Amino acid sequence: MPNTKTNDSRAGFWSGLALWKKILVGMVLGVAAGAIMGPDAEMLKPIGTLFINAIKMLIVPLVFCSLVVGVTSMQDTRKMGRIGLKSVVLYLCTTAAAITIGLGLATIFTPGEGLNMAITDTTVVAKEAPTLVQTLLNMIPKNPVSALAAGNILQIIVFALGLGIALTLSGEKAEPAIKLFESLAEAMYKLTEMVMKLAPYGVFGLMAWVSGKYGMDILLPLIKVITVVYIGCLIHVLVFYTGMISILGRLNPIPYLRGLLNPAAVAFTTTSSSGTLPATIKAAQEEMGVSKSISSFVLPLGATINMDGTALYQGVCALFIAQAFGIDLAFSDYVLIVMTSTLASIGTAGVPGAGLIMLSLVLTTVGLPIEGLAIVAGIDRILDMARTSVNVCGDLMVSMLVGKSENELDESIYNKPTEADTAR
Ligand code: ASP
Repeated sequence: MPNTKTNDSRAGFWSGLALWKKILVGMVLGVAAGAIMGPDAEMLKPIGTLFINAIKMLIVPLVFCSLVVGVTSMQDTRKMGRIGLKSVVLYLCTTAAAITIGLGLATIFTPGEGLNMAITDTTVVAKEAPTLVQTLLNMIPKNPVSALAAGNILQIIVFALGLGIALTLSGEKAEPAIKLFESLAEAMYKLTEMVMKLAPYGVFGLMAWVSGKYGMDILLPLIKVITVVYIGCLIHVLVFYTGMISILGRLNPIPYLRGLLNPAAVAFTTTSSSGTLPATIKAAQEEMGVSKSISSFVLPLGATINMDGTALYQGVCALFIAQAFGIDLAFSDYVLIVMTSTLASIGTAGVPGAGLIMLSLVLTTVGLPIEGLAIVAGIDRILDMARTSVNVCGDLMVSMLVGKSENELDESIYNKPTEADTAR
């Protein structure tokens, strides 16, 4: 008779495991299966293809609904006019800077070089790169329905932004439509959660195939990706943010660095900037002296639309995948990555793993093989820890700059001596 008790407890152990741990297990087992089976591991690839197809299914409705909601949630922007505008401009600029750092580092360290992954069943064909003007003109969909049907992400983003702004400006009459989008977006998050449950198995299948085909050569590039993302995150916070605080805010950045330790630690462990919000608001008010009215508006907005760490990671991963598959990118592709990642980060929910789904959007837009996603998925939790911390640090930095410019930053709180100072 089979030992049902042991089987039950094994099943219970597996279902009780956090998703990221399951994905990690899937990756390790996949690499092992590939190493043992060699090229025969290709038979496991369909499990991975199933997962990839499920992700592809999500992209259009998820991006569309969550972007519309991202814009409509800024309703208060009108009320708070100036403050909203300042925050949004700062959020967008810091995000673009983050991707640039990511792209720069990935160009210097070339984490994907030497991987020589072949493009098999993707539809990427060498095509003449469109000029920048053409790219910009093509962003406006002549027919939004066909943009949605064709999955033209850039056009969908433009339409979603326009629709979101129009809904916000239409006042009371648009409220039912806003509610509809909110509930659709919620359902799409749920569906994403369901699809992500397949991730451990998908990652297993794809990693088995990749490591069976390419051997252990895959491991070093992955370590390089992690290193590059972490270095990028450190530069962004320690150089770029502190620079902004000193130059634009004319403040000593040390109290900022000290004050962000708590929320950054929460973000690092929970990998959710929405979940970290209470800790972020507390730090802004009690450690950095940002007024209640500014922090309670700017920080929730930031947790929804400002994802510098996510954007930086998307820049690194897009280049990593291009390098791994030996695809040369034109200058216009880089511009496209900056634009899509900035917009994708607006539509990224502040929950664990959301950036990975949005990476598929960047890859599709630039025409990079979406299979690359599975390679990154195995290490995504480790990357998510760093990027979520940066997301939260960015929100705090912007809340301080906006507070300072509105005379709503209490410098006596910001510069208050620490216990160590008073003990001296
Ligand atoms: N986990 C990130 C956050 O909550 C989003 C992401 O996956 O990039 O900020």
